[in-house]
Amino acid sequence: MDAGLNGDSMEKLKGVRITSLDDDDDDDFEGQENEEEQEPTLEEEEDDDDDEEEEPVTLGFVEKPKHSWSLLRQLFPSKAGGVPAWLDPVNVPSGRSCACDICGNPLQFLLQVYAPISEKESTFHRTLFLFMCPKMSCLRRYQHEQWKCRSKNSSRSVKVFRCQLPHLNPFYSSEAPRLDGTDKPSRSGVALCNWCGTWKGDQFCSSCKKARYCSQQHQVVHRKINCQQLSLSSQLPNSSSSSGETTSLEIIKAASNALWLEYEIINEDESELHAEMSDDKAYDKPLISKKRTDDSMMSLVDCFKGDSDRKCWASFQERIAKAPEQVLRYCRNANAKPLWPTSSGRPSKDDIPNCSYCGSSSDFEFQVLPQLLYYFGVKNDDVDSLDWATIVVYTCRASCEASVAYKQEFAWVQL
Ligand SMILES: [Zn+2]
Ligand SMILES: [Zn+2]
Ligand SMILES: [Zn+2]
Ligand SMILES: [Zn+2]
Repeated sequence: MDAGLNGDSMEKLKGVRITSLDDDDDDDFEGQENEEEQEPTLEEEEDDDDDEEEEPVTLGFVEKPKHSWSLLRQLFPSKAGGVPAWLDPVNVPSGRSCACDICGNPLQFLLQVYAPISEKESTFHRTLFLFMCPKMSCLRRYQHEQWKCRSKNSSRSVKVFRCQLPHLNPFYSSEAPRLDGTDKPSRSGVALCNWCGTWKGDQFCSSCKKARYCSQQHQVVHRKINCQQLSLSSQLPNSSSSSGETTSLEIIKAASNALWLEYEIINEDESELHAEMSDDKAYDKPLISKKRTDDSMMSLVDCFKGDSDRKCWASFQERIAKAPEQVLRYCRNANAKPLWPTSSGRPSKDDIPNCSYCGSSSDFEFQVLPQLLYYFGVKNDDVDSLDWATIVVYTCRASCEASVAYKQEFAWVQL
């Protein structure tokens, strides 16, 4: 049955994707001048109700992709920004699930996490995709709406999709990727919108007859911005070629400034990070200055409501300070809990909706930190700038099968 995956390559596909492209040393992490002394008094005080032992957390950091092919879907990447690398490239979400329920615009791709579950055949490959509306006003609305998600179908401006595939599937070889740039998917995917490169592009522009679009909104921006350009350029590959994907990629280049900057997400165990940092080598090349990170984090302080928030914030900050560039914290364990920046605005168990497909309860799986916005170049200069304290993703405990390829999960936002 095992079609040639040797043990070593198997390992690389398991767990959250430990980057298999560059298992090099960690000299990209920032120096930890503040590492030498923790104030033990603040440690673990934040959760009075639950102080079980700490679950191991995998941290995600962003890096520019090493190769042009590093983030292709056949390599099962974890990535942030750019376009999604759809795991099932044919049955991608469509219709209302691609749009912000509040303003109706197509959602923008935030990140995806490759997180297979090895115990089950159906989850041999498994990726979680996170999308959001880039409008801060929609995110604010959703912050109120999310409290109602348990009881009714509320409006969402942040959506999560879970996609999983068995080892043997029509889209990818059962052999582990060679990771040398020669890996090819077994079949091509549906043609995507030429403006966003994200959602299905099932309609053609009536004017240039080349560009595909996913929605009215993207047809309009395409008409305004690059329709002419496409009409004039005759050397562009014809959209009717069999490989819709390459065609899309060509045209997307013109549109890509509408997307967030693209990064690969690489992983590091939080616990190992401690160990490595105690022998203070390799931390002399900070990615961004410590100061900058502190500033963006400190801007959160303004919103505090009271002492419990301040205390919660202190321990949040202390924990994050161990690796200030982390953009993601992942832990899929029954007892895992998110690290909340503030104690107000946290959901109780009853606020998290059950899986809408199988009815199982949903558990915390990962959270996204505001540092990601810094890497995306999102400025935090006025009330309309996109900003959040954390986005917490909950997924079906059973990681169930359902008739749809992309199953919607739940995200909680703390602003
Ligand atoms: Zn919106
Ligand atoms: Zn589009
Ligand atoms: Zn056009
Ligand atoms: Zn389920």
